[in-house]
Order: sequence, then structure tokens, then C-alpha cells
Amino acid sequence: MNFAAQFTHRVADSLLEFVYPPVCVSCNRSLEDGSQKVCELCWNSIQTLNRNHPLFLDTQQKLLAAGFLSDVVSAYVFQKEGAFQHIAHYLKYRGYESLGVELGKRLGSVMDEWGVRPDLIVPIPLHRVKLRERGYNQAEMIANGISSATKIPVFANIILRRRHTQTQTKLNLDERRKNMEDAFGIAVQGSEKIAGKICLIVDDVITTGATMNSCAEALLRGNALSAIAASAALAQKDSV
Ligand SMILES: [Zn+2]
Repeated sequence: MNFAAQFTHRVADSLLEFVYPPVCVSCNRSLEDGSQKVCELCWNSIQTLNRNHPLFLDTQQKLLAAGFLSDVVSAYVFQKEGAFQHIAHYLKYRGYESLGVELGKRLGSVMDEWGVRPDLIVPIPLHRVKLRERGYNQAEMIANGISSATKIPVFANIILRRRHTQTQTKLNLDERRKNMEDAFGIAVQGSEKIAGKICLIVDDVITTGATMNSCAEALLRGNALSAIAASAALAQKDSV
């Protein structure tokens, strides 16, 4: 986001806080500290993942089967109407960038616990039309949060989105794969950064993993050593 837009956002935020005292985006309880956006009760209500969780094992098996990804890491279970869905909604559609950074910090500590240690972090890019509409890439905000927790660098402009892929929610698995074929490429200046490196690909939610696999394939084509998928949450295919 450019400076003028950021400034406008800040002014709008302070005005809103004056008129409406800050409340949790998920449960509407009032918050002592308006910069937090989500109360601790709501954060604690979100089901967490571990390496033995059935949803994790199922997703990992599906993702690694395609042969491009070497590992998966994720912090939460996406549940319809749950606090995570509210957080993801405010992050994507209401301009609450700080929620992405907070999710990233939490995902960064999960990476430490799980011993996931990539060389660099690459957020899945938004198409520029969407980027212009939204003003920021939510995956990049999560990547920035991971970086602030782990000190691993973020390279935001390495993966390029070649086509404006249509929204995937109404497509079945095969249609999603087709939609994603060759959807991504590597920027000219990106190849030397990723060559021989372990890359962590970041998205907000992984459902089928088609986007992740497509990005991983592009990174490997660009001579990355390996690619790990990271997301704030995992979703069952029928839960989104
Ligand atoms: Zn709450």
C-alpha cells in the first residue's frame, strides 16, 4: 500500500475507533487494546494442528503425492463460522492487514516447534487486478509475520501470476488443477535468489493444494532445491 493510502487508512481507523470503541472481529466483545482486533478467547477457540492431526496427515499426503512439495506446515483448522473464518474474512475483505501479520507470527512459532526451517519465504501472488482492488496481498502479510518471528527473509515478487485464474470455490479437483496449469512463473531476477534454496510458499488457507502445487512446480522449474507449503489454516474441501 502506498503512503497516501496508508495514511488515509490510519485516519479512518482512528475516526472509527472514536465513534465505535474497538471490538473483537469475531465475537464483538470490547477490546482493551484496539490494535489487537481479535480477543484471546477467540484466538484460543481456534483448533490448532500438529503433525499427527488427521486433517494435517490427509492434506500432507494429498499435497506431497503430486511430487513437487517436500513438506507442509499449518497452524489452524478452518471451521465454517468459527473465529478463523472471521479473521480470514477481515484480512481479505476489510483491510485488516495486521491480522495477516499476527497469523504469520503464530505460524512462525509452529514452524519452530515442527522444525521447519526454509531459506526464504515466498507468498503466493495475487493477480494485479485483485491486488489493485484490495491494496495488499494477504499472503504477503502472513509471510511478513512469519519473517518477523523467524528472521527468514521474504521475497514477494519472485513468483509471477501469469493468468487471472478464475475463482476456484465452485470448481472440482480436476477443474482446479486445469485452472492452475502454468498459472505461475518465476520472475527473471528471482531465479538466482531461489537457486539451490529451500523455499516456503505461503497462503492463507490450503484446501485442495492445487495452487500450492502449481507454485511449487514453478519454483522447482526455477531450480529451487525444494518447496514447503505453509498456510495459516487447512480446510476440508467441503468446509469452504
Ligand atoms: Zn473474540
